[in-house]
Amino acid sequence: MNWKKNDVFQALIEDMSDAGEGIGKVDGFTWFIKDAVIGDKVEAKAMKVKKSYGFARLLQVLEPSPSRVTPLCPSARQCGGCQIQALAYPEQLRFKEKKVCNNLRRIGGLENLVLVDEAGRLRDADGMAEPVEGIPVYPIIGMERPWRYRNKAQFPFGMSKDGRIIAGFYAGRTHSIIETEDCLLGVEENREILSCIRNHMERHHIASYHEESHSGLVRHVLIRKGFQTGELMVCLVLNGPVNAFTASEELVEELRSLFGPSMASISCSINRERTNVIMGAEIVNLYGPGYITDYIGNVKYRISPLSFYQVNPVQTEKLYDTALKYAGLTGKETVWDLYCGIGTISLFLAQKAKMVYGVEIIPEAIGDARANARLNGIQNAEFFVGKAEEVLPEQFEKNHIYADVVVVDPPRKGCDQVCLDTIVKMAPQRVVYVSCDSATLARDVKYLGENGYQVEKVRCCDMFGHSGHVETVVKLVRKTPDTYIDITVDMDELDLTASEAKTTYQKIKDYIEEKYDVKVSSLYIAQVKQKYGIIERENYNTAKPENVRQPQCPPEKEKLIEEALRHFKMIS
Ligand code: SAH
Repeated sequence: MNWKKNDVFQALIEDMSDAGEGIGKVDGFTWFIKDAVIGDKVEAKAMKVKKSYGFARLLQVLEPSPSRVTPLCPSARQCGGCQIQALAYPEQLRFKEKKVCNNLRRIGGLENLVLVDEAGRLRDADGMAEPVEGIPVYPIIGMERPWRYRNKAQFPFGMSKDGRIIAGFYAGRTHSIIETEDCLLGVEENREILSCIRNHMERHHIASYHEESHSGLVRHVLIRKGFQTGELMVCLVLNGPVNAFTASEELVEELRSLFGPSMASISCSINRERTNVIMGAEIVNLYGPGYITDYIGNVKYRISPLSFYQVNPVQTEKLYDTALKYAGLTGKETVWDLYCGIGTISLFLAQKAKMVYGVEIIPEAIGDARANARLNGIQNAEFFVGKAEEVLPEQFEKNHIYADVVVVDPPRKGCDQVCLDTIVKMAPQRVVYVSCDSATLARDVKYLGENGYQVEKVRCCDMFGHSGHVETVVKLVRKTPDTYIDITVDMDELDLTASEAKTTYQKIKDYIEEKYDVKVSSLYIAQVKQKYGIIERENYNTAKPENVRQPQCPPEKEKLIEEALRHFKMIS
């Protein structure tokens, strides 16, 4: 069939896209239908037709899916924010987990994923304690209540057709404002704050911003709440100087009397550009210290209007708890946290690691990460500004910094190839991959799988209920080569009897243990010395029968031994 725009057809929705559209097939042709959910039978109208797929608009649900619910939010269909609110929450979770597993299988080549319960038993196995073979996928961590979970909201201001000031949200992919002062993902306080600002603007004839003519004053309001502290932040985004906002001190007083001491920070952000970027760089403080405070776990954060901060702090803590558990820290490890943002994961890990190094491309985020480390008295975290794929090789190759554990939390495009290669060279025992895009996660996991790592377990976490997004944590461990026989080798076996040599070996061992808290064997030292041609082959080999395979010095220890040899000026 040759489909054309405006064709009307019926389809059964069998899957959903990452963007939350329902997917239905008609005679082998794939349709993406917004607002349709898995299990629906729908009538739809073709909007855009490509060669083998098309986009269609939902006309009516002919037979609703058993998992279809009436969205709680009256604007769910107009607003671009919640694509899958019409799917019951437990079903959303199942859909997300399935999507991740499909990608890990299809792209990542992980054939043997098995769904297990909290205790690691096969799910739906009628309580039978069957042994699990394969890679366990632990239950997705959902929200207890998938509403009002966002600590941050940015409402645009505008004008209604009858000339009233309105605040709301942009209708999906447009810039027309739909008047709504309550978003069910945001906190209850939003509504009161918006109405207070709107009344103030009406009273003092302060105009809202008009995008096309670039006129008017109030563009947006940013509202943030510290979920653990209860502190509130209000920041008005203005297309003009702060004194153009009449009687700002009166608004400050009103907001403070409404919320008491919880109203901790009131400010303006000046943005006079013709731009879609919401915040302007200049912040003028009207009340309070210029920031609010909040906690993730027991790490404290100072959040200013321009700082990045996770929008769902409750789930963030659960996600990072999982990452921390997968990192398996005992207090002795050197950890790299790549793509570290404001250092949320780094500071979380620093409490259980010997040393954490964070890398992030945005200088302001690293500024925040360092400030947050100081604020919490965390001294074993160091941060680098730069690309992970540049900083990591440089620190590893030039400064010989290695890692026991590497944690990555990259943006949607996943890890850079050079970054992955360097991780492989650094040979950490564990890699914890935190991902917001399971397709690139699967691609990177496949590469790590081909280069010495195996996936030990997988767990998803829902940070953005009612959207198609999902976070995943994967624990990878370094495979032990099957040629490796774990035998202890002592000096006698190495036939190194000269006391001088013994002293040298002991010195190297002590140096490495002192500096890095890592033990190395004489055999490993001998192997590295041999590599640099500073040990007689004979000494090294004679003590062993030909057929005994020796353990090979792992690369991370090799780096340390090289560093020690350099320190003792035995190599240059
Ligand atoms: N773990 C962080 C958030 C990670 S989001 C936190 O909890 O705050 C991904 C981060 O990667 C973003 O902060 C982004 O700025 C950063 N980023 C993107 N490309 C990068 C690159 N090539 N090297 C380092 N960081 C990068």
